[in-house]
Amino acid sequence: MAKDFLKGVQESYDVVVIGSGLAGLTTANVLGRAGHSVLLLEQHYKLGGMATWFKRPGGHIFDVSLHGFPVGMIKSCRRYWTREIADSIVQLENIRFDNPMFSLTTTFNRADFTELLAKQFHVDRENIQAFFDTARGMNFYDDQKQTAGELFEKFFPGREDVVRLLMEPITYANGSTLEDPALSYGIVFSNFMSKGVFTFVGGTDVLIQMMHDELKRNGVDVRIRADVSKIVVHNGAVQAVEVNGRTIRTRAVISNANLRSTIFRLIGEEKFDQGFVDEAREVRLNSSSTQVYIGLKPGEQIDESTGDLLFSSTAPRFQTDLLLSRDITSRTFSFYYPRTRPQSDPRCLIVSSTNAHYHDWADLSEHDYQASKADLIETTLAALEKYVPNVRERIAHAEAATPRTFKHYTQHVHGASFGTKFEGLAVSRALPEQISGLYHAGSVGIIMSGWLGAMNYGVIVANDVDAQLLKAPPVSREAQTKAIPRS
Ligand SMILES: Cc1cc2nc3c(=O)[nH]c(=O)nc-3n(C[C@H](O)[C@H](O)[C@H](O)COP(=O)(O)OP(=O)(O)OC[C@H]3O[C@@H](n4cnc5c(N)ncnc54)[C@H](O)[C@@H]3O)c2cc1C
Repeated sequence: MAKDFLKGVQESYDVVVIGSGLAGLTTANVLGRAGHSVLLLEQHYKLGGMATWFKRPGGHIFDVSLHGFPVGMIKSCRRYWTREIADSIVQLENIRFDNPMFSLTTTFNRADFTELLAKQFHVDRENIQAFFDTARGMNFYDDQKQTAGELFEKFFPGREDVVRLLMEPITYANGSTLEDPALSYGIVFSNFMSKGVFTFVGGTDVLIQMMHDELKRNGVDVRIRADVSKIVVHNGAVQAVEVNGRTIRTRAVISNANLRSTIFRLIGEEKFDQGFVDEAREVRLNSSSTQVYIGLKPGEQIDESTGDLLFSSTAPRFQTDLLLSRDITSRTFSFYYPRTRPQSDPRCLIVSSTNAHYHDWADLSEHDYQASKADLIETTLAALEKYVPNVRERIAHAEAATPRTFKHYTQHVHGASFGTKFEGLAVSRALPEQISGLYHAGSVGIIMSGWLGAMNYGVIVANDVDAQLLKAPPVSREAQTKAIPRS
């Protein structure tokens, strides 16, 4: 008989969280800690969403999205998770750029960038300071009309090399382009510039295990292989969720699933105002990614001067559309040295990441898809040869993931790595005005994406839900049963 992954589940909860990405996990933890009864439902067999890892024979453990995040993660993890998690976050000190315009190594913070821009790029110091102050001063309520491209043109007219230095890592970090609002660039860039780029020692598997332990301590009921098919809405309010053939009542639902699938698949547009539906339809998804995971043979070392993160490109000029092209010219290499996982067999691993369009991969026949993956691995190894000589003889394992892979594991529409473009944030925030008790937390709007953005958005939404639950007293069991329509 098939295993019942909902065995022992209660009939109703204060809150149901759909999805265990970093936003879903954090919102569940904050609400569990506040004393609410919380059920967390994850369709996959692992928690973490895009914050994930996988194991391969020979002691290789690959991290999918542990490449770097801003220092703010330390504070967020200490406040909303545990001190132990926060204490495992350390800085990545060697961030490298290598492209036809320049090659350099940096700690990727304001002080170091100021020196680089002044000495290597010969930019006036006052101008540099004014740029940093403008980016730092940006906030969500500002003018959203200025684009990142216009911001650069204002401070560094005609300086494609400077734009490349300032923009390339952020395009990689959240898929933003020169055409996106300047503030979505400024906020994320400034977050990184405050102290640099950070990582979690131990690997994503250890982090997610620590989070799972903390959820249990806070009384959250966590279920994997629990695929929510419907959010039941009646008389303009959330009533229940349908999952694995069961109906579980709840006073609030927080969906960590993709914003568009939450609205159009889990609920249905007939439950919303037409104006809202029109707005939701206009929300553009962010780009997806391809990755190549490379494991070196036991005993094979990479010199640490190779860097932790390397933004490499062979394109003569910086163009954001080139960063998404199937004809890959830009790759971000993450180098993982044995210190990344001190508890495991010492291994050197490399993950190459490139932003990608879903449609370039979605419609390929199985034969062409496999051939394209093989080609992706081959061309990546060829590019890596420059930084890791004789890499082909030294590797024990190489495989590729594509936008189809990310869609398969997370059910994200088009395998979007960073949720939606900027306009998604307003739609996500407006959900409770449309349906009482309905919330969304997860990568949206560029700002609320990435590990830190997703986690912090989870906290914001948890606070909204907490306020709602405290305002409205629990509904009696009979009243709730009557309210659920038979569908
Ligand atoms: C290749 C790649 C590299 C990245 N690198 C970085 C990086 O270096 N630094 C960084 O900060 N960020 C990085 N990111 C982005 C970061 O990983 C994400 O922004 C963040 O993890 C997303 O968290 P989330 O809360 O939005 O949810 P997601 O991780 O998107 O998770 C959503 C969860 O909901 C579940 N779900 C969906 N539908 C249902 C359903 N119907 N029922 C039950 N469960 C459901 C999914 O299975 C999934 O577990 C990267 C992303 C990718 C893809």
